[in-house]
Amino acid sequence: MKQNVVGYKSKEASCMIKTYNFREDNLLLGTCNNFKEIKDTVDEIVYNNKELLPKSKDSHILLKPNLNNDLNALTGNSTDLRIIAAIVKSLKDHGYCNITIADGPNVGIDRRNIDVFKRLRIDKFARFYNVNILNLNRCDAIKVKLATDYANIASVCLKADFIINIPKIKTHAEAIMSSVMKNLVGCVIGQEKRKMHNDLARNIICLNEVIKPGLHIVDGIIAMEGNGPGDGKPRKLGIIIAGHNPFLVDLAITKLVGLDWQKIGYLNLARNKGYFTEKDIMQIGKNISSIVNIEKAPEKNFIAKISELKELYWLKKLMRSVTSQKSISELAYKLKIIQDLYSLEEDEIEAVNRDGEKCLSCGECNIYCPTGIETQKIGQMPADNRCINCLYCFFVCPNDALKITGKQGFMKRHIEKYKAVV
Ligand code: SF4
Ligand code: SF4
Repeated sequence: MKQNVVGYKSKEASCMIKTYNFREDNLLLGTCNNFKEIKDTVDEIVYNNKELLPKSKDSHILLKPNLNNDLNALTGNSTDLRIIAAIVKSLKDHGYCNITIADGPNVGIDRRNIDVFKRLRIDKFARFYNVNILNLNRCDAIKVKLATDYANIASVCLKADFIINIPKIKTHAEAIMSSVMKNLVGCVIGQEKRKMHNDLARNIICLNEVIKPGLHIVDGIIAMEGNGPGDGKPRKLGIIIAGHNPFLVDLAITKLVGLDWQKIGYLNLARNKGYFTEKDIMQIGKNISSIVNIEKAPEKNFIAKISELKELYWLKKLMRSVTSQKSISELAYKLKIIQDLYSLEEDEIEAVNRDGEKCLSCGECNIYCPTGIETQKIGQMPADNRCINCLYCFFVCPNDALKITGKQGFMKRHIEKYKAVV
């Protein structure tokens, strides 16, 4: 470490941002409680890393958030749309316009009629911010050698001029933690992702040796704790951490959230391969304070472990028409063999309406709105044309002053689950 941690509030920034200067990276940590603070933190991150950005403003910049399933960011599952919005705005301020939001969700591979991008409103969001979207499960592939197998990787992940990795901090029943390094699994095409689990730790290292995002901006605003990555609980941390060295950023995150890096297979391997040193571990231990002791994911039970044996994959495939039936899935969920249930029923949400009598004028809905709609315009009729129906405002309203009109479909279960834990 060249110098001690520097904590500062830049002239324009509304929030506290700290930098940690390491041998291999300058980590930047911002505390963010609203969209403005998210934007200020991201602006600072992009500004501090502007030398890394491509010289040509026409360069293709790929944003790789965690859009693994159809549960929104407030449930702790996917990357917060406000961070993606802040990154897009910041890149555009720096003159970059050829921007694509890309991921290869786990849901929607077998169940092809589930469109995670549509369910998370990424399609409307991308139209609003005038950027492209790309489902990495359905694009050109390049065969890449992993530790255990060859796997097809979305070729754009190797060809884009610059990649910004935007993972979410989540607990993970198999990997312990899912964040920077683990997020690249979404670049593996479709069913090929299964190959990763033949030796998850070694394969994650291989992926990070092949795919090289230039910058990692991590969503720790609302993290996931407990039974992650699909069935955990949201945990508000209110942080964004960024750097360009995936190993150091992940190591720093373990300290921030109170996880033991030595129990995380891929970080152990990274240490053995020299991707970070004893000195880095000491410096992080000394300079970065834990902000929370996140609730770890419980170990998978015996039946879940058996069901995931690669030797039984053929049987699982054969049985898919039976196991995908609603009653069987529900039983598997109850037995904790699977982490979540997926409804095939799409939503037809028309609008969010405000009940003026119940509204406390607290402004919480505006703080969470990823298109920046003002408090007084949220939930008014006719709906503001910036509204993408993401329901962030509805989720966070403390007095149930916002009501949904139209069919909730798959959202119904998500809403019930969220309201039960928050
Ligand atoms: S969050 Fe709910 S109570 Fe607060 S201003 Fe918005 S609508 Fe009103
Ligand atoms: S008003 Fe509510 S539903 Fe519409 S974009 Fe903003 S947060 Fe999403």
